[in-house]
Amino acid sequence: MRIIAVANQKGGVGKTTSCVNIAAALGYRGRQVLIVDMDPQGHSTSGLGIDKGTLSCSVYDVLINDLSPERAVFPTQWKGVFVLPARLELAGAEVELVGLLSRESRLAKALSKIDGFDLALVDCPPSLGLLTVNALVAAESVIVPIQCEYYALEGLSQLVGTIELVKRHLNEKLRIGGVILTMYDGRTNLSKEVADEVRRQFPDLVFSTVIPRNVRLSEAPSFGQPVIYYDPQCIGAMAYMSLAEEVEERWLNKKRP
Ligand code: ADP
Ligand code: MG
Repeated sequence: MRIIAVANQKGGVGKTTSCVNIAAALGYRGRQVLIVDMDPQGHSTSGLGIDKGTLSCSVYDVLINDLSPERAVFPTQWKGVFVLPARLELAGAEVELVGLLSRESRLAKALSKIDGFDLALVDCPPSLGLLTVNALVAAESVIVPIQCEYYALEGLSQLVGTIELVKRHLNEKLRIGGVILTMYDGRTNLSKEVADEVRRQFPDLVFSTVIPRNVRLSEAPSFGQPVIYYDPQCIGAMAYMSLAEEVEERWLNKKRP
């Protein structure tokens, strides 16, 4: 199973939207994909139509209570998409992990016991704390969504620094494997400028598919649906289908480097 963390400590840049919709599009294309929700807000869990109130367990139990990970993987209504869900209790894990043995590698250990999936996408919280570090230790690659807005690049050097630290001390195979330009508005110069600047800083890493600002993408989660099922014809759905093909090309069609 390839494991990719979707990370950026800025909130609202499109991490969750990208996880849910890349997973749904890959599932639709015949892949088996696991979303690991590492954000206590549980937005990818609810965005997939899972009622958090009905869950018997969550990723919290796997990280803190040593629950066998298979028992916390739930199917969704969407073809090929499964979730290791999060609830608000996960907020406590950020502190509780500090006192535990191998606190940075508990997710890595859990995911190593899961098979049957082509890919796991780990949706990170908007911070660089232990939950995100666990995601980075478990992953081989990081995908960084960047919002084409003011201050888009602010904080990126901390993220890159954290990735370097994890690489040096905890997970030498880790690398940035992709950058997604999100919420792009072709009518504004600002979007174009940010996109150009990001392409300058991360040549080769920026996906060719740019995710446009699209109201259907922001509506879909309130119906618990990935956008390709909510409105298959909208530009957001088409963009995520095309991005999923690029993800497949980068990670799933070729052998491990
Ligand atoms: P993060 O997980 O990084 O905090 P989200 O994926 O939750 O970010 O996105 C933040 C908000 O912006 C959400 O309300 C989401 O529905 C909305 N959103 C995300 N991507 C787009 C887009 N391309 N166009 C319009 N709204 C978007
Ligand atoms: Mg999120």
